[in-house]
Amino acid sequence: MTTRILKKKKLPKQGMLDNVMRQFDHAADIIDLNPNIRKILEVTNNELVVHFPARMDDGAVEVFTGYRVQHNNSLGPYKGGLRYHPTVDIDAARALAMWMTWKTALAGLPYGGAKGGIQLDPTKYSNSELERITRRFTYALGDNIGPELDIPAPDVNTNAQTMAWILDTYMSTKSPAERSTNLHVVTGKPVGAGGSEGRDRATGYGVFLTIKFWAENKKVDLKDKKFIVQGFGNVGYWAAHFLEKEGAVLTAVQDAYGSIANANGISVETLFEYSVANKGSILGFSGSHTIDNADFFGLDCDIIIPAALGNQITAENAQRIRAYLIAEGANGPTDVEAEEILLKKGIDIIPDILCNSGGVIGSYFEWLQNRNGEIWTLEEVMQKLEKKLRESFIRVSETSENRKVDMRTAAFIIAIGRLEETYVQRGIFP
Ligand code: GLU
Repeated sequence: MTTRILKKKKLPKQGMLDNVMRQFDHAADIIDLNPNIRKILEVTNNELVVHFPARMDDGAVEVFTGYRVQHNNSLGPYKGGLRYHPTVDIDAARALAMWMTWKTALAGLPYGGAKGGIQLDPTKYSNSELERITRRFTYALGDNIGPELDIPAPDVNTNAQTMAWILDTYMSTKSPAERSTNLHVVTGKPVGAGGSEGRDRATGYGVFLTIKFWAENKKVDLKDKKFIVQGFGNVGYWAAHFLEKEGAVLTAVQDAYGSIANANGISVETLFEYSVANKGSILGFSGSHTIDNADFFGLDCDIIIPAALGNQITAENAQRIRAYLIAEGANGPTDVEAEEILLKKGIDIIPDILCNSGGVIGSYFEWLQNRNGEIWTLEEVMQKLEKKLRESFIRVSETSENRKVDMRTAAFIIAIGRLEETYVQRGIFP
């Protein structure tokens, strides 16, 4: 594993890493962060790049590149997802790992931050190929992950099944005595394989809750409010599901294949059933018409939920946004230039490290249950999740008001402050 000074390299402007570093710098300047601690936090602790082979269905062998970046573990074991996507590279993993550190610190969890994945387009592989790729990746990660060291979870294009394969591979390479006590090496597992009730919907439910808390603060009634969602995967679907139950109306959706709209409303459940039957795509859904991707963010609506990839809302499309709230289900969907434009226009942004933190909070509950040999009901999980998220939301709102800063800066101030405190108390070895 190598450590690398993030700032030494000239970062491509508007890459995710450039974005998270600028967000960090902005908040660190405001709180006048101790310069020594700043030096520590602007680098990642460990970076692992693995190349590994996997056998394809036709017998050919392909070699893949996987990443795991561990940014910081001063508050507890490294924690964060694994994504399978062509855009996964070392800089993306660094950026996403840093966001995890701020996210877990903000939520008050005993975790640090990590992220990783494999650079590949999963739509090009069969299920059995993905299983073999995942198992070889897990084997290549070896003892760099572990239930008290670094705990992966689902992210873009990975799911409960992926976690079950990782668990099984990890367990199979351990001694018999360790096999039954290591269930918490990954979270987001299927319930039958040691997962937690509610983890499947935790991120989307959290996105919905933060929108609800925001609306309560602003005295906005969510009934009949129009919302649009970018990405109809686990996060986008569940957020839409709970918003629809609250009376809000889904009017447009974009996924990797295109965009659809219907100003009179799109039924979330019918669209979900359609997308499952249509190999995961929303295109061609009969209760809607297709629109240009370029017109998506400028649609007439109240709330936008970007729940796909990073850097989707940019200086190019921010000017056209008409919604008054952006709830970041994805990590890093709004770049720094776009954010300046949006804030000037008076648009509120519930930042990713708060908005989508329901996922890692749900993971924490799963990890606790595995560790303590407990099984909680869905109601318990949802109640605890709501309580934790409400506390986070209140802290961010209060900090934002007291310091007269936007919600993202407030969230970063809280997160960085937590890490600063622990470093000041612990000192630097030796
Ligand atoms: N991938 C999710 C995130 O970005 C969940 C991480 C986790 O549960 O560890 O927050």
